[in-house]
Amino acid sequence: MATLEIRDLHVSVEAENGPREILRGVDLTVKQGETHAIMGPNGSGKSTLAYSLAGHPKYTVTGGEVLLDGEDVLAMSVDERARAGVFLAMQYPVEVPGVSVSNFLRTAATAVRGEAPKLRTWVKEVKEAMAALQMDPAFAERNVNEGFSGGEKKRHEILQLELLKPKVAILDETDSGLDVDALRIVSEGINRVRSTGEVGTLLVTHYTRILRYIKPDYVHVFAGGRIVESGGAELADKLENEGYEAYVKGGASE
Ligand code: ADP
Ligand code: MG
Ligand code: MG
Repeated sequence: MATLEIRDLHVSVEAENGPREILRGVDLTVKQGETHAIMGPNGSGKSTLAYSLAGHPKYTVTGGEVLLDGEDVLAMSVDERARAGVFLAMQYPVEVPGVSVSNFLRTAATAVRGEAPKLRTWVKEVKEAMAALQMDPAFAERNVNEGFSGGEKKRHEILQLELLKPKVAILDETDSGLDVDALRIVSEGINRVRSTGEVGTLLVTHYTRILRYIKPDYVHVFAGGRIVESGGAELADKLENEGYEAYVKGGASE
């Protein structure tokens, strides 16, 4: 069973007036097969956590550790993290000019699996995954992120998730910008991957609505750069009713 352990993680960004600490001691353990929702107000550092785990160069780790099965994730390059099984949906958020979705996915799968997938089985795999996400087959020939709608971007993320089969999946605001139908299709995709029991999922979100489709095992409230409360799925219901005010006013956030 793969386990991701985040211990007392501190992360800073370079702001105009010098370094600014965003993450202030995050502790979290995610095991394969578990789903953890990280919920919190805007600006609390949720995306910073996601980017830091993926190794985004803009974020400087100033303390703490991140271990995947005891291996030091922070010492790994972005590619090494992907190969080790850490998946961040927005790892490649930019447009990739001239690279089709189909080629991009095969390159990513090659990097993660250590060898190129056999073309015939690969084409079938991609077709099936796209059909499950109700994506037009023509989408595979479009250039990555070029003119993608919000919904297409999210479906492309879940398509990557289904094909790359990571040990730990970090999904940041996967629900934002989706209409109800797209939210349901994307959620079903995440649930299909979860149902294998082989992925630990970190679902980062501001809103509770995706949690109507995806029942987390654990909910963590994130405020002021750290986890301030943890509980089960019922904590999300409390947040839906009461919002984040209690945590922000309590001085946990800025
Ligand atoms: P969330 O995802 O919870 O909305 P973020 O992680 O995006 O929060 O941001 C947390 C805080 O860090 C915010 O106050 C944001 O302005 C600040 N921040 C994030 N990235 C940078 C950056 N590159 N430079 C300066 N401040 C940043
Ligand atoms: Mg600390
Ligand atoms: Mg964010």
